[in-house]
Amino acid sequence: MTNNYYMPTKVIMGDDCVVKNCELFKVLGRKALIVTGTQSAKRNGSEKDVKTALESVGIQYQVFDKVMSNPTISCAYEGASLAKENGVDFIIAIGGGSPMDAGKAIALLAAQDIEEESLFLGNYQNKVLPMAFVPTTAGTGSEVTQYSILTNDKAQTKTSIASDLLFPTVTFLDAKYTVHLGVTTTINTAIDALSHAVEGMLSVKASIVSDALAAASIQMIIDCTPKMLLALQAGSEAAFDLEQREQLLQASFMAGMVIAQTGTTVVHAMGYSLTYFKGIDHGRANGLLLGEYLKLVEKAQPDLAAKILKTMSFAKAEQLLELLGKLLGQREEINAEEIKFYSKKAIQTKNIANCIVKPTEDDLRTMFVQSFAK
Ligand code: NAP
Ligand code: FE
Repeated sequence: MTNNYYMPTKVIMGDDCVVKNCELFKVLGRKALIVTGTQSAKRNGSEKDVKTALESVGIQYQVFDKVMSNPTISCAYEGASLAKENGVDFIIAIGGGSPMDAGKAIALLAAQDIEEESLFLGNYQNKVLPMAFVPTTAGTGSEVTQYSILTNDKAQTKTSIASDLLFPTVTFLDAKYTVHLGVTTTINTAIDALSHAVEGMLSVKASIVSDALAAASIQMIIDCTPKMLLALQAGSEAAFDLEQREQLLQASFMAGMVIAQTGTTVVHAMGYSLTYFKGIDHGRANGLLLGEYLKLVEKAQPDLAAKILKTMSFAKAEQLLELLGKLLGQREEINAEEIKFYSKKAIQTKNIANCIVKPTEDDLRTMFVQSFAK
């Protein structure tokens, strides 16, 4: 057996942990670039808390609040230019996976000159700005991974920069910032985390440690699904209390630690086309495909599927499909041409080699057809 475990990010959890631990910022540098989205960090109190913490320890800051969902390469270069022009020496990313992933790319690009052509090629110098992360969605786990996923128009997909340099230095998990996250984003992001945990267990790099984290994460997310269905019915996020918000944030962080070890599988590879070409949210895209892939695994390796389904207290993949069906509702339209094109793209990715059950291109086409037939 060969398995490694590496996750060097310090994780601080709990109520008001950003302000209570303000001294930690002093270790990171003297001037920060706060990288965030356009609105949510200002509304949920996270940006204010970070500024309060920085001011209390005399650290200067500059704000870059232009990160869009599925951040582009040019957004990362723009943030890095701002970082360099202002002489910042560390990055604070606040928000969902998009600002966190942009923050990682900015931390790398501000520390070394990398041409756009070689951005995804690896071989970086051993230089990056220190990073502090404050996740405000509970889904991507980016706060504890070494991946920065950017929209890559040249390749017409989302491509990840993967490097141990990109593990944040410190992460603050405070669920109060997620309390007003809308029902759809709560569900889509939770499904992203679920997909990370399940895909981790389906990866050739799975280990006893990643499986233990994944199983706990899956259980915690499935445990919150009755409340998700209630929230959908009521059309209001008020159905979630702080305890469930904390549970989802922890489950997402644990699923992030899983993919930091295992990477993702065919589900993410297929989902990227749904996001890039059809604008489907990242978590939703995975959710549309996850049940069908587990059905394929159930046929090829019933014991492996059963091990995962047990963590959900399910006996059959069909039960997961049913639950995801209720959570995801009405499907988008997809045509045969699109299915053929997306399947061809996904089968060429390295995610396929990462799957214990390796699908064929035909399998991918069938998965797309079945996923959108509901
Ligand atoms: P996101 O794109 O970061 O955010 C989605 C929306 O939620 C934005 O409109 C954002 O608003 C809003 N939002 C964020 N926090 C909120 C809060 N607390 N309350 C209300 N609204 C809030 O979505 P995400 O699903 O978290 O991240 C998706 C990205 O992460 C994708 O690019 C995906 O590829 C990537 N990803 C990365 C990893 C990794 O390991 N690095 C893993 C999985 C996915 P604002 O724009 O105003 O902030
Ligand atoms: Fe993901």
